[in-house]
Amino acid sequence: MAMLSEEITTLCSHCNRPIPSTNIDLHFVHCSRNLEKCKVCGDMIPRKHAEDHYLETHAPVACSLCTATMERDILDVHKGESCPQRIITCEFCEFPLPAIDLIEHQEVCGNRTERCLRCSRYIRLRDSYVHETTCNAVVEGIVGSSRDARTGAERPPRPERRAGPPFLRRHLLFSIAITGIAFILGSLLFQKKSDITPGH
Ligand SMILES: [Zn+2]
Ligand SMILES: [Zn+2]
Ligand SMILES: [Zn+2]
Ligand SMILES: [Zn+2]
Ligand SMILES: [Zn+2]
Repeated sequence: MAMLSEEITTLCSHCNRPIPSTNIDLHFVHCSRNLEKCKVCGDMIPRKHAEDHYLETHAPVACSLCTATMERDILDVHKGESCPQRIITCEFCEFPLPAIDLIEHQEVCGNRTERCLRCSRYIRLRDSYVHETTCNAVVEGIVGSSRDARTGAERPPRPERRAGPPFLRRHLLFSIAITGIAFILGSLLFQKKSDITPGH
């Protein structure tokens, strides 16, 4: 076959492609008999594959989890965000379960209580986030930086009146100050004692 770059072409009225004018009649017969235009995407599809093309490319698909059928292009979003059978982890016990059961489960699961390590009260799991920021128990055993401790000892800074944490912080500084003073007193006493004892 000779390759003629400047060949005169004619648009096939069936597939809309430019066809060498010398071949157009033959092409058209062949084209109109064997190809058809997909009504959805407009591609020219061999007639015998038209049904497969539709089923594989355009037909609604069933979600493998909940069996609902939907457009293919929203399946991923459906499975990831809205399928009632998608697996979600309970925020309280981290047990994985279908979304449709989650609300009921968390209703029960969130009502379980756990002891707050700071105030020793039993707090419902569903309230623990809020409690964590509002628990006003004096924090023991948490050592702040030495600068914090020093500032606290000299003059406790006025905490801004925001919700939760600043409160905690004030208590923290306070307890560090007290602990610091107690420690200093303690070591002074101890020193005295050890000064005295040997001389006795
Ligand atoms: Zn054609
Ligand atoms: Zn198509
Ligand atoms: Zn689904
Ligand atoms: Zn749970
Ligand atoms: Zn607490």
